[in-house]
Amino acid sequence: MDRLAYDIVVVGGGAAGLRAAIAAAESDPKLTIGLVSKVYPMRSHTVSAEGGTAAVMREYDNFELHCLDTIKGSDYLADQDAVEFFVAHCPEEIIQLDHWGLPWSRDDDGKIEQRAFGGMSVKRTCFAADKIGFHILHTLFQTSMKYPQIVRHDEWFVTDLIVENGAAAGVVALDIRRGELSYINAKAVVLATGGAGRVYEFTTNGFIKTGDGMALAYRAGVPLKDMEMVQFHPTCLPGTGILITEAARGEGGTLINKDGERFMKTYLPGKMELGPRDILSRSEIQEIRAGRGFEGPHGAYVGLDLRHLGEKAIDERLPMVRELAEKYLGLDPIHEPIPVRPGQHYIMGGVSTNMHGETNVPGLYAVGETACVTINGANRLGSNSLSECLVFGTATGLSATTYAKKTDWPRGTAAKEALAKEEARIFGGLMKREVGKESVSAIRKEMQQIMDRDVGIFRDEKGLTDACAKLATLRQRFADVGVADKDRVFNTELTQALELDFMLDVAQAIAWSALNRRESRGAHSRTDYTNRDDANYLKHSLAFRADGAPRIDYLPVTITKWQPQARKY
Ligand SMILES: Cc1cc2nc3c(=O)[nH]c(=O)nc-3n(C[C@H](O)[C@H](O)[C@H](O)COP(=O)(O)OP(=O)(O)OC[C@H]3O[C@@H](n4cnc5c(N)ncnc54)[C@H](O)[C@@H]3O)c2cc1C
Repeated sequence: MDRLAYDIVVVGGGAAGLRAAIAAAESDPKLTIGLVSKVYPMRSHTVSAEGGTAAVMREYDNFELHCLDTIKGSDYLADQDAVEFFVAHCPEEIIQLDHWGLPWSRDDDGKIEQRAFGGMSVKRTCFAADKIGFHILHTLFQTSMKYPQIVRHDEWFVTDLIVENGAAAGVVALDIRRGELSYINAKAVVLATGGAGRVYEFTTNGFIKTGDGMALAYRAGVPLKDMEMVQFHPTCLPGTGILITEAARGEGGTLINKDGERFMKTYLPGKMELGPRDILSRSEIQEIRAGRGFEGPHGAYVGLDLRHLGEKAIDERLPMVRELAEKYLGLDPIHEPIPVRPGQHYIMGGVSTNMHGETNVPGLYAVGETACVTINGANRLGSNSLSECLVFGTATGLSATTYAKKTDWPRGTAAKEALAKEEARIFGGLMKREVGKESVSAIRKEMQQIMDRDVGIFRDEKGLTDACAKLATLRQRFADVGVADKDRVFNTELTQALELDFMLDVAQAIAWSALNRRESRGAHSRTDYTNRDDANYLKHSLAFRADGAPRIDYLPVTITKWQPQARKY
């Protein structure tokens, strides 16, 4: 067992965690920073981002317009002060990445090129072909290595937060390689653990996106905000859920039904394929239900047609799209439309924070997809997420630094107690339990199927009530889960059990928040309450962990200058 201590411990080595760690290291060279990640940082989900990252960079664009697009996209559930802060700080983050060496795609005059993205009024998305996530993560990871005060714990899995006298005081983590638990004391803890897409079965998210940070904060008394707001992306490969980037439509790709018609002219003639993701995903499902989808081995789908773009443009600007279609479907998008259907992609909700990443627990911060500031409200615009990781990564790194500098080391016994509790729970309980009664894979699959079926693109009272009841039963059944592999070294069966435990909390928060929002707004589409209801629901949902069902409360939305209007495109 190691007893470690850093001024700040950052949990997560994706874009948000690395950006926060760098900001903290830059602001005070004397600060010690521990960076804990359950996978090698370059394997964080950020690496798979394809399309690009948004910022106002040109004379034809302005901050007001980026704010309006984001707020309208959010169906007026975003906090407008946070959106204004976000939009104003995006450009400097893009330029900072340029200075750190990110190989942006460029115009002939050398300026960083920008492409069209759904729900954005102008070309605002900076990109590096269709591999932006790889390049952002690589640039940040390399930059983080310049700072010896950032000490990494790769393949360490955080199982619990340490809270002393009501304030965050560190984390308990399992070194996956050795199979040993340690505690890491800290004055400030930053959760940057990414999303929770794996609570659904059909998702674009990597296997590691299991909502760990959301559940850790939730267990420590922090509410999860707007959890019912789950984004479904309209263009995922049937069968695998692999994402075909929105950049494919930004570059001119169209969506067609089995009769070869561009069906978006029925649903959103003003924006067509460049509408926001919630509307496009619903339109595809409606088109399929009307019997105009294609039929395939994995169910019905629609076509993403890139043929008219030509080989040269596809190879230059969408090389990964061509590669994915060839490798996973055995077809060449130069000659054939790509089969696509909507799949879970992003969680707009998350750990409730303010613009500085602060939660209601002193010293505990959250940032990136795991947090809900909120700039995304009920529907995120594509390419705002990476920028969010950068802007709020910096802001959170700086506020954690300020806090850590004025805070003393925790002196009590909370760390030792948390470690003993985790030893008993994991090695005394889970690992010792009889195997065979319940399994991780069976409970996980049931949870994912409940979420896909009843907490998906369209929802209603009956389905949601049913989902809440079934998830509560799964939560109870989890108490009988055992782990067959008793070895300590690289025990991935054990880490998957811990992840499922986190996911069950997150799934319950999503389902209960969705049940209690009796209106349709953004990605939350209720077939029994089809209208947006500002009189009753222009407010954030807050889910608090409680015995049995989560307790749901509400928080007002901050409106600065954009009064809610009908969301028309
Ligand atoms: C396929 C795909 C394409 C996308 N394309 C775009 C795009 O083009 N533009 C855009 O803006 N957004 C895009 N997004 C969304 C965006 O990429 C993510 O929201 C963003 O990268 C999240 O970054 P993050 O730093 O918050 O989390 P992640 O990159 O997911 O990193 C999470 C980190 O937390 C660590 N972690 C998690 N749990 C634990 C634990 N228990 N203990 C220790 N460490 C832990 C992980 O090891 C990892 O390092 C895309 C998403 C996907 C899935």
